[in-house]
Amino acid sequence: MKRRKFIATGAAGILATALRAERIAAARPESLILSTWSFGVPANEAAMAALREGKTVLDAVEAGVRVPEADPSVSSVGYGGYPDRDGRVTLDACIMDGNGRCGSVTFLQHIMHPVSVARKVMEETPHMMLSGEGALRFALEQGFPQENLLTPQAEAAWKKWVLDNHYQPLPPEDIHDTIGMIAMDRNGQIAGACTTSGIAFKMHGRVGDSPIIGAGLFAENGVGAATATGVGGEVIRIAGSAIVVEQIRHGKTPQAAVEEAIRRIARHVGERGKTMQLGMLALDAKGRYGAFSISPGFQYALTLNGSTSLQKSKSLYP
Ligand code: ASP
Repeated sequence: MKRRKFIATGAAGILATALRAERIAAARPESLILSTWSFGVPANEAAMAALREGKTVLDAVEAGVRVPEADPSVSSVGYGGYPDRDGRVTLDACIMDGNGRCGSVTFLQHIMHPVSVARKVMEETPHMMLSGEGALRFALEQGFPQENLLTPQAEAAWKKWVLDNHYQPLPPEDIHDTIGMIAMDRNGQIAGACTTSGIAFKMHGRVGDSPIIGAGLFAENGVGAATATGVGGEVIRIAGSAIVVEQIRHGKTPQAAVEEAIRRIARHVGERGKTMQLGMLALDAKGRYGAFSISPGFQYALTLNGSTSLQKSKSLYP
């Protein structure tokens, strides 16, 4: 009897878990894509187009962030990105799927699509992160073309900066913006990508949070995903995207989780927080999402069930 009762109880438990999974799947939106800033709008549209073609969510986020990478009018990502204080465009990027597979490149020069190199690192090497010369050599071996990424407009901005600032690195509060994209497809598969030219006129060799898994990006199937933009050092300090996803795992909504992360950063930076920008986006496996920034002005692109809009994030400081 006891054994039969035990089996019956076990079966009821399995049934309840299956029903719960089914309920979550039924409530989940058909697709959910979030990305940072207004250049996220065409990026989300490209990601959505990839999903419509039946591509994976990893393909979708890669296709999405490649749009601002190739757009010379975006001065903080890829081609057209502002250079470092030596006049070199150096790029950071990473990509991650919900099963813990990830790849990253840092301090990469001359390659227009660092996110695709990051994906190759993930798929074609035993490593997770390649940097500088090594990352460039790998990219060339993989067939990526070597290109000049410094546009005349970015070069002019840099020359003006050199004259005005006498080669002193800017306080990081100034000129930057990354595309971070997180997405979930109709099957609940999650992925993210993050790519940037970093803080304009930074010191040569400086790397921010964007290519660091757990800082600029984190994604985990069944839990959620997060990405960050803004003053990267402060995001690294609190392992920003990892702690957001961890809080979601422990029951917070994506909105509550990003608010907690930004408040944590605000405690570290004190008064400086009022003059710096830092924004975070998150989604969870149920299809809920959140956005929050330290200063006003953070915008993000939202694609819900195929339709894309530009949204204003709430901020900690008015
Ligand atoms: N997080 C980037 C960096 O520190 C910049 C940004 O997203 O605004 O390189």
